[in-house]
Amino acid sequence: MAFKSTFFAPLSVILTVAALFAEGVQAAGEVNLYSARKEALIKPLLDRFTEQTGITVNLVTGGADALLKRLQSEGRNSPADLLITTDAGRLYRAREAGVTQPVVTEALRQAVPEAYREPDGHWYGLSLRARPIFYAKARVSAEELSSYEGLADPKWAGRICIRSSGNIYNQSLVASMIAHQGEAKSEQWALGLVKNFARSPKGGDRDQIKAAAAGECDIAVANTYYYGGMISGKDEAERQAAEKVAVFWPNQSGRGTHVNVSGAALTAHARNRDNAVKLMEFLVQPESQSWYAEVNYEYPVREGVAWSALLQQWGRFKSDNLNLSELGKYNSQAVMIMDRAGWK
Ligand code: FE
Repeated sequence: MAFKSTFFAPLSVILTVAALFAEGVQAAGEVNLYSARKEALIKPLLDRFTEQTGITVNLVTGGADALLKRLQSEGRNSPADLLITTDAGRLYRAREAGVTQPVVTEALRQAVPEAYREPDGHWYGLSLRARPIFYAKARVSAEELSSYEGLADPKWAGRICIRSSGNIYNQSLVASMIAHQGEAKSEQWALGLVKNFARSPKGGDRDQIKAAAAGECDIAVANTYYYGGMISGKDEAERQAAEKVAVFWPNQSGRGTHVNVSGAALTAHARNRDNAVKLMEFLVQPESQSWYAEVNYEYPVREGVAWSALLQQWGRFKSDNLNLSELGKYNSQAVMIMDRAGWK
């Protein structure tokens, strides 16, 4: 995985004379962040945090696995105070690897619903990422769809596009099924689903949507922010492809649509603990929540925060309220099931 490092380039330094006098010789300090969330999708918010608090945020971005490895090898010498990843599976791995520590504050607990935080406070969700079904409007009507389980029905033979089993989003989707209905049922489902594949899995989520638009399949499973990026992006071909498909929210009469989170964890050896907690709390404030979710067409974890017009257009939906720690817990079983089902 490519690893882009920015080596703690200070995001912004508020060091006016006034600030110096106000703070005395003690500066407001800093906080070091390892982020798997791309710089463009977090930096403006970090700059706002610095403006408000005077705390400098040193940002290192990279792939989640690379950052996790780095945290492990640095051990107690790690400069990192906070880790941000874009899925609960990796937050779980970080916890298992012992590189996180619990933090519980009233502000964090109030802002983040129970399902979207680790029970002991090892991590907190910052945005919700929904993984619904997309259907080609020309060939499928919403009435034909119901649930993820329904995708194993033989009527979908040769009509489904979904990316590979190596992808953590799919692993988490299967893990959520195991958590809800056990291994045997989930394996049966995976077998049926694989039988319905239109092609051997390839490409990312956008590619599944494009394939459905192009007629290679009729159904795609993808995270909504890829669809959002396509429909409001500058790429004309992608925009046209996205317009040929529609979102369907599965499992609305049952457990709800599968969701994942991007989230933050306090590192085990954080030296700037107080500042790190301040930043976590800042990221779950209502204003931060709408910005953080919106720049990537995700959903706020915090209830009562307004959605962008585009998100509203796709409709309200009931999300699965399974505690997302379960996704990590069942990850290896999910991988085995997918493997046995022949999900490439
Ligand atoms: Fe993604």
